[in-house]
Amino acid sequence: MDFTLTDDQQLLVQSIGELMGQESWDTYFQECDEKHEYPERWVAELAKIGIDSMMLPEANGGMGADWTTLAAVWEELGRLGGPTYVLYQLPSLEAIFRVGSEEQAAKVSALIGTGKQIWNSAMTEPGAGSSLREIATTYARRDGKVYLKGQKIFITSSAHVPYLVVMARNADKSDQFTEWFVDMSKPGITKSPLDKLGLRMDSCCEIYFDDVELDEADLFGIEGEGFARGIDDFDMERFVVACCDYGWALCAFEDAARYANQRQQGGQAIGRYELIQEKICAMRIDITNMRNMIYEVAWKHDSGVMGKGDCSMAKLFCPQAASRVVDNAIQIFGGIGVTGHHRVARMWRDLRVERISGGTDEMMILTVGRAALKEYR
Ligand SMILES: Cc1cc2nc3c(=O)[nH]c(=O)nc-3n(C[C@H](O)[C@H](O)[C@H](O)COP(=O)(O)OP(=O)(O)OC[C@H]3O[C@@H](n4cnc5c(N)ncnc54)[C@H](O)[C@@H]3O)c2cc1C
Repeated sequence: MDFTLTDDQQLLVQSIGELMGQESWDTYFQECDEKHEYPERWVAELAKIGIDSMMLPEANGGMGADWTTLAAVWEELGRLGGPTYVLYQLPSLEAIFRVGSEEQAAKVSALIGTGKQIWNSAMTEPGAGSSLREIATTYARRDGKVYLKGQKIFITSSAHVPYLVVMARNADKSDQFTEWFVDMSKPGITKSPLDKLGLRMDSCCEIYFDDVELDEADLFGIEGEGFARGIDDFDMERFVVACCDYGWALCAFEDAARYANQRQQGGQAIGRYELIQEKICAMRIDITNMRNMIYEVAWKHDSGVMGKGDCSMAKLFCPQAASRVVDNAIQIFGGIGVTGHHRVARMWRDLRVERISGGTDEMMILTVGRAALKEYR
């Protein structure tokens, strides 16, 4: 397998490097992280070079990029310290154009290029986390309208997105799961923001739907096929998480290696000590394995041969491997790694959340194990 980027991919990666070199973005990220604010100014800059719509087909104004290009862009953004997790909703924007109605796609199109948060998918509920079949939010039809009732929890970006695709169960046919494209300004919707350990530049709320009135035109996709639709997009979500985590690990590794060469203790650079070299070696092995796994999954996807457990394997391995790398980086930085606002400390917090959001480690293990066993039945 040859992971060499094409000229176009290299040019795109180069434009990321130039954008990240325009200013000291880390100061801005630090501020946003402290204030729990979405870095809209940064995302708007990315949108100017088409990153927000890169996965959309060219017919919808995008680049029609493949997963290898996505991996290369996320790798470079992460390597340069970008909080790529705030971009989660963007690669999956393609689902709105593929599954949604023309009217829904037009609403979303109006926000592309602005840097503003656009949408997200809301599935999780207090009683339905890893086991989404327990979803209790219902929709019911009355007098030509549809009424949504229930509660969602841990919904990323939900403090600010204008639209949520909400999974609900048919009140009259409980085995039927359907998604609804919900305008979040509708009456009957209340939100309660949640604090969290990491990923603080994006919001996460509990949301209550109290008989929210919808129209038939708000149906997202096909009635009764919401569950299959949502699960279809899990692979992309898991792959994106893996790419984010690998990018941050690369950033922490490069920061730590440079520091180990500069920092003098006991009359020499700390990088001369074998205990520091051991950490650098362990970090490099983890980074190499993450990179190989991500580019292999991307290659398999782009070649149409991706296996069922491939993205889950990357989603399991990368947050854990990246956590080890970032933890080692903090150790190499010593005191300054844990005081002040060093980005490795922020990444350490962010990575801990990644092992739960987007599906827990345990659920990834089950998916990978089952998929592997199935191949040998
Ligand atoms: C920051 C953040 C952002 C999120 N964003 C979104 C979002 O945008 N949209 C959305 O719909 N959801 C979102 N989620 C929800 C996320 O997908 C769930 O938190 C996750 O799937 C786990 O569900 P839970 O928290 O209810 O934990 P639970 O499912 O209750 O799990 C608790 C523990 O039990 C383990 N466990 C559960 N079932 C099994 C099993 N069968 N076998 C072995 N172990 C098991 C889990 O692995 C975990 O360790 C987000 C969560 C977080 C933390």
